[in-house]
Amino acid sequence: MSRFLNENMSGLTPYTPGEQPKSRENIIKLNTNENPYGPSPKALKAIHETDEEMLILYPDPDATELTKSIAAACGVRPEQVMAGNGSDETLAFVFMGFGNHIYFPEISYGFYSVFASVFGCQFHAVPLKDDLSLDLDAFKGVDGTVVIANPNAPTGLAVSRDEIEELLKANRDHLVVIDEAYVDFGAESAAPLIDRYDNLMISRTTSKSLGLAGLRVGWCMACKEVIDDMKKIKFSFNPYNIDRVAMAAAKEALDDREHFADTCGRIMKTRGRTERELEELGFRSTHSMTNFIFVEHEKMPGDVYFRKLRERNILVRHFDTEKIKNYVRITIGTDEQMDRLISETKEILKEI
Ligand code: PMP
Repeated sequence: MSRFLNENMSGLTPYTPGEQPKSRENIIKLNTNENPYGPSPKALKAIHETDEEMLILYPDPDATELTKSIAAACGVRPEQVMAGNGSDETLAFVFMGFGNHIYFPEISYGFYSVFASVFGCQFHAVPLKDDLSLDLDAFKGVDGTVVIANPNAPTGLAVSRDEIEELLKANRDHLVVIDEAYVDFGAESAAPLIDRYDNLMISRTTSKSLGLAGLRVGWCMACKEVIDDMKKIKFSFNPYNIDRVAMAAAKEALDDREHFADTCGRIMKTRGRTERELEELGFRSTHSMTNFIFVEHEKMPGDVYFRKLRERNILVRHFDTEKIKNYVRITIGTDEQMDRLISETKEILKEI
């Protein structure tokens, strides 16, 4: 640390991203929930058609065309949408603007506590139930903004839209933010509630179901007044937050509903059979509704399984947090990748 850093930043513990190897050669990368099938070919075409003009000019700060496509894909109106540089950016704006007191699950997306520290929020970590599911009752009536990932990460467990609605009713005077990064793999979106609840905000991303983690485009949805507040923050921070190439590609990916449905369907099918095969080997799974599974084996601590897979060039994610330290989180890859995972796991189990 230099001697120039502001005092309030010197105590930060930054977010630790999963390992990103320089090359994917010989590595099976199942550690950061990317989509193995990648984006729509139409998104790639938009990137290839990038011309000089697109790069000389600043991008549209309102992301007008992209916003229209997001609204059409999610069944909301364009004025209920704001796009961001990955959903990490829109979530950061939430903590920046609405986070005096902020409540989120004790085990969830690791960035929430980092955002809370960087923006000086008082944060309250709400325990999960013993079965690792969200304790929604514990969020009801709290005096601050609620942020919940649905499905939650890294457990993969989802709550229903009706349960979210109960939470919205119980917290009428506070914002409730539902991070739906993984919602497209079988969970229920709360988007249809936006017209009825002005305290609801939803965060979404192109990184998982649309195969564009490298592009950095996400968005939030809420009533117009909350979106206008988010725009006030964005225009005070980085008006040109999405580059022109990313905007054009994300729009094409959102418009290609066929590619989206096909690839999400394949991932969910592979998830089901991977869970079954691991269960036959003695693993217990939380039955995730995401593009990853969360599994434990009574004979093998999570860090041992993680390390042994790493030695075999398979990257998965392990968290040291006490309650989940026996688990590993495994992104759903292609069927061939999951076959390799299963066969290497059989070898590992023979060793221990
Ligand atoms: N929310 C959750 C729950 C996530 O797991 C992630 C990605 N790891 C994000 C948000 C951020 O996604 P992105 O910035 O790629 O849109």
